[in-house]
Amino acid sequence: MQFHNHQADFFVPDGVKPEAALARTTHLCISAHQDDIEIMAYHGIAECFGRPDRWFTGVVVTNGAGSPRAGIYGNYTDEEMQKVRLVEQRKAAFVGDYACQIQLGYTSAQARNPAETNIVEDLKQILLAARPEVVYLHNLADKHDTHLGAALRSITALRAVSGSVKPRKVYGCEVWRDLDWLPDEDKQALPAGARTNIAAALVGVFDSQVSGGKRYDLATAGRRLAHATYYASHGTDQETALNFAMDLTPLVEDPSLPIVPYVVQFIDRFRGDVQKRLAGGGA
Ligand SMILES: [Zn+2]
Repeated sequence: MQFHNHQADFFVPDGVKPEAALARTTHLCISAHQDDIEIMAYHGIAECFGRPDRWFTGVVVTNGAGSPRAGIYGNYTDEEMQKVRLVEQRKAAFVGDYACQIQLGYTSAQARNPAETNIVEDLKQILLAARPEVVYLHNLADKHDTHLGAALRSITALRAVSGSVKPRKVYGCEVWRDLDWLPDEDKQALPAGARTNIAAALVGVFDSQVSGGKRYDLATAGRRLAHATYYASHGTDQETALNFAMDLTPLVEDPSLPIVPYVVQFIDRFRGDVQKRLAGGGA
């Protein structure tokens, strides 16, 4: 498989040939950065872990340049840091038993550029080879513009191949802005409580990020616990950890559906819910 960037990385943890590794994919996540996948799509990783009939593939769009660095990484050049992040992502793929891990190596500016067609072409190629049943993208209310760029380029690619690739579900997932605000009827609640040892290791291998002073490992587990606990006020918790997602499937099933109004309708329903409860005086 040929990608536009010569430095694009295709890693198969169990050594199967790349074409076969990708073809076995059932669950696919496309993220902006190294470590996003493990924060946002653990549901898919856990669904596939150790199963012969389900396989998780990760795709990272950017090259990890410009990421913060501290401690032992403090003096690393941008190029050295990119290498560290690439290897960390491979480590996660190994720990998570992924079908394969693809790192496309684009700059953040390219990922954010609506006119960037190479990313879309690479993603189309991956989608056609993988034919995933379930797709995980960044949610479209995320506050990180590179995340939005990666998600929007992914939707463009999914729409372009919608004649032959028809995932039954496309989830918009949480990293930089969680989705607790979604009205409950709009929440896609994804269980993330299986194998907490693997879940912890998957975020923990990104040492360059965590030791840079950001405890993504603790925060990610904390968010999942908080969601499971605060999801329903009555009864005991059905799940010990949850991630929430925004349903993006309609945007892919109907390529003519305008994206901005689709996302804003969720905010409008949230607004309506707040207004209704307040107007009712708490009744
Ligand atoms: Zn990110």
